[in-house]
Amino acid sequence: MTMTDTHCPYCSLQCGMRLAAPAAGAAAQVLERPEFPVNRGALCGKGQSAASLLDPGLRLTTPLVRERRGGELRAASWDLALDRVAAGLKAVGERYGREAVAVFGGGGLTNEKGYLLGKFARVVLRTPNIDYNGRFCMSSAAAAHKAAFGLDRGLPFPLTDIARADCVILVGGNPAETMPPALRYFRELRERGGTLIVVDPRRTRTAEQADLHLQPVPGTDLALALGLLHLAIADRRLDADFIAERTSGFEPARSAAMAHWPERVERLTGIAVSQLRSALDLFAGAEKAIVLTARGPEQQSKGTDTVGAWINLCLALGKAGREGSGYGCLTGQGNGQGGREHGQKADQLPGYRSIVDPAARAHIARVWGVDEAGLPGPGRSAYELLDTLGTEGGARAMLLMGSNPVVSAPRAAHVTERLRALDFLAVSDVVLSETAQLADVVLPAAQWAEETGTLTNLEGRVILRQAALSAPEGVRTDLAVLHGLAARLGTPKGFPADPEEVFEELRRASAGGQADYAGISYDRIRAEDGVFWPCPTGAHPGTPRLFLDRFATPDGRARFVPVSYRPAAEEPDAEYPLYLTTGRVLAQYQSGAQTRRVPELNRAAPGPFVELHPQLAERLGVAEGQSLAVTSRRGRAVAPARVTDTVRPDTVFMPFHWGGAGRANSLTNPALDPTSRMPEFKVCAVRVERVR
Ligand code: SF4
Repeated sequence: MTMTDTHCPYCSLQCGMRLAAPAAGAAAQVLERPEFPVNRGALCGKGQSAASLLDPGLRLTTPLVRERRGGELRAASWDLALDRVAAGLKAVGERYGREAVAVFGGGGLTNEKGYLLGKFARVVLRTPNIDYNGRFCMSSAAAAHKAAFGLDRGLPFPLTDIARADCVILVGGNPAETMPPALRYFRELRERGGTLIVVDPRRTRTAEQADLHLQPVPGTDLALALGLLHLAIADRRLDADFIAERTSGFEPARSAAMAHWPERVERLTGIAVSQLRSALDLFAGAEKAIVLTARGPEQQSKGTDTVGAWINLCLALGKAGREGSGYGCLTGQGNGQGGREHGQKADQLPGYRSIVDPAARAHIARVWGVDEAGLPGPGRSAYELLDTLGTEGGARAMLLMGSNPVVSAPRAAHVTERLRALDFLAVSDVVLSETAQLADVVLPAAQWAEETGTLTNLEGRVILRQAALSAPEGVRTDLAVLHGLAARLGTPKGFPADPEEVFEELRRASAGGQADYAGISYDRIRAEDGVFWPCPTGAHPGTPRLFLDRFATPDGRARFVPVSYRPAAEEPDAEYPLYLTTGRVLAQYQSGAQTRRVPELNRAAPGPFVELHPQLAERLGVAEGQSLAVTSRRGRAVAPARVTDTVRPDTVFMPFHWGGAGRANSLTNPALDPTSRMPEFKVCAVRVERVR
């Protein structure tokens, strides 16, 4: 029996765990690892059952190749499969041009994989068209972070600061279901006498633990934040010294907020003026105060402005840039943070560098040993890439790693059609996901406990997920896949399959960038339970707290960004009279490709459902469990009713973990935020009917 300290395969908390790997043939076991500081031994049901994913019976163990479009996927050798992928990508590039070849990554990939995938796209394929599903997840918060603070790290402070705060406002996040071990920090906050305010259209398990729950109309979080700033200005609650010494641009933001007087905000959000006042009193009166956002306010066509409005509130009240106070984003995917730092995004190069910055391009070209002029510029964002697949001017071939857009993309039926329209699709995944089922070639990937790699958790802590056992016969790592493809496409050097070798290059590539990993090594991570970036040298201690002395802007001041309210891209009307909002449940994760295959998780959450308020259920004549059709302008989904007074009467909720008839993303709206290019998953207009 070997014991290996490693980390959970799922969310951005990256809980520490110990994996016991018995002799060959016996199943591995997840054990607690109490000394890891983030979760201190606690694991949710997903983490506890993670060893089930390793069962060879649940996963792919041989490459699959389709001889022709419409034919069957059949088992093939690795050589044949990689030859087919290389030939498929090459043929399309030669026929339609390099931009017709696209790469799509995932926020669950390790830093090493994300880095090498970006390099593969730009050096081997020489295409600008690489993006990843993290664009659907945290990009609005990232854009607002950059605009205000000059730098994006989900939490600019460790999670422990939540427990030590006097007031936390959590906007559109439900850690009680998405990352239960993190809830201890919110509990500790309340045990110390601090207050928790939750903003959510649903009374979630997290909202039930709040001192104050504000239940706004979906899509109106921006108005709420502006209304609170208006009240703070009107009631003279501002921190004038902080505004003067540590910020710039307050006046335009102040003017914009003044147009959002409390009664107007009450009309827009449905939140009473008295509740607005209570929230402001609690937040402004707290010595140490934090605002956290999650996907609720971010996955909107105005997500960047919405997060910006919450940051403005923090800045105006002096709740930023000092220990114990600040704004942070609860990142979702396992490597949602690291995934956006090292080159998977269409507009970025490693180290969180801009792909249009000449100095950044020159540095990366030097590290990669290529001519800077040959590096492509920015490509299309995730939805825009998917939306144009197989069209004139769009990509015609795609290599996809660690993502399942058939379930997770907005307007999913259309995205599925576009994927089908490709000349060639290759998918590397652990299981035959809904997207892999459309592929010409499927490559069976090794997974978390079978390969070593770093991830960056929601705090900006770089952790090491260590291999605990060998992958089954027939399975290869994504790094080995990129190594094999690069060689076949004429670049035999620069794509090592060894993760530590890739990380050493990543350190050099990130050196001097905002996300500077130069001082982080595998040995250091092992010895220190993770290292917070930026960490420019081996002697640097890492940076758990950012912005204490200055913000990362040229003048060191945080920037107010003036924002005004605008409605959702699609509001209810006579034909589609209700709001739909979507989200996650405790026992499933993202597109469910992994968790739907774990028996205990599937028993706990076997399928989709439609949550609706008893008043709405009565009006529609709907009983608990009745089959409902939910229809939007983009499609239809069918799932049983779950009648509950935890949701607003004007809103229905569906979880998004399933494909097929109950796929919530058949309904969602791909209206994009103009800055972050993030789709509006969190609000669209629907009608609900009983299915006979
Ligand atoms: Fe895994 Fe997240 Fe659950 Fe922790 S909270 S065990 S990282 S899924």
